[in-house]
Amino acid sequence: MDKIEHIGIAVKSLRDASPLYERLLGYKSYKTEQVASENVITEFFKVGDSKIELLEASCDESAIHGFIQKRGEGIHHIAFAVDDIVKEMARLKSVGFQLLSDHPRIGADNKLVCFVHPKSSHGVLIELCQEIK
Ligand code: ZN
Repeated sequence: MDKIEHIGIAVKSLRDASPLYERLLGYKSYKTEQVASENVITEFFKVGDSKIELLEASCDESAIHGFIQKRGEGIHHIAFAVDDIVKEMARLKSVGFQLLSDHPRIGADNKLVCFVHPKSSHGVLIELCQEIK
């Protein structure tokens, strides 16, 4: 794993949360993106080499909606950048982690992504992401 690529934060409303992060960081987000496959709308802020990803549910079936219902707003996942996601998925499997999918999926911000089940990582949802070149 190379670095923490971003930290995902579940919010009820980007309209409310985005201005707060603009005030916090002192600048605007660089991208808003609807990820239909995940039922989320995301907004990204650059923070040095890493990013903050705000996540709003786009419908009640969204995992973000379920997360907020259960745990409230807050940190949802930590994403690590990897060079070869397929290789890293195989490595994590071989050392006992449970992955949420067998194959990488297309995620936000031009990335292939895969998630590690929080049950196998002390309650933290971990995302692997690889830049699509
Ligand atoms: Zn993410």
